[in-house]
Amino acid sequence: MSQTAFSTLNLHADLLKNLTSLGYESMTPIQAQSLPHILAGEDVIAQGKTGSGKTAAFGLGLLEKLNVKRFRVQSLVLCPTRELADQVAKEIRKLARTIHNIKVLTLCGGMPFGPQIGSLEHGAHIIVGTPGRIEEHVRKGTLNLDDLEILILDEADRMLEMGFQDSLDEIIDAAPQRRQTLLFSATYPPQIKSVADRIMHKPVMAKVESTH
Ligand code: ADP
Ligand code: MG
Repeated sequence: MSQTAFSTLNLHADLLKNLTSLGYESMTPIQAQSLPHILAGEDVIAQGKTGSGKTAAFGLGLLEKLNVKRFRVQSLVLCPTRELADQVAKEIRKLARTIHNIKVLTLCGGMPFGPQIGSLEHGAHIIVGTPGRIEEHVRKGTLNLDDLEILILDEADRMLEMGFQDSLDEIIDAAPQRRQTLLFSATYPPQIKSVADRIMHKPVMAKVESTH
């Protein structure tokens, strides 16, 4: 299974060592299909069922690109719910535990604004949140996306089902045109294709067929 070993990727040595210590021995199929493209800086649409390891696919991509010395928001992960955002932030922190002084901040609806504004004033490298609340911070000017390098839409199909289209558009308008965009979804309905056509640049498709 050497072709699916994480060591075949050009990851930083400490990220690779941490994967071994976490018991991540080889890439899952969706990781094997998407990570080489993600690490090459390409836009990627990755479709795979729940539990296929999509979080680590984009998590490793954004951690590999991150410059921890630049204390600016370099990646933004959008998730449909607070529970999912918390899970994603937890997985990113786990993958990032060898990177000193890294700041991963969650910004979700249903939480008070004041502490979020305080946290944003302190700064962060990576933001994980729900579209409505992120849009509000962008509008208020409390979240600046000028230095964003990677935008990730996680569970994009669910975000659209939940009516987040307008919030997504507003956030994308505030992000730099020159960026990497990664879209993760369990399904690929026409609405997702039309969003991808608008916001992505020559995306590579990574798809793992369900076995049942
Ligand atoms: P998805 O987003 O596709 O539903 P997750 O990213 O939540 O899936 O991953 C499901 C589980 O698999 C998580 O507990 C994660 O820690 C674990 N996992 C991810 N990648 C690997 C890997 N390469 N080896 C072992 N476990 C992994
Ligand atoms: Mg997921």
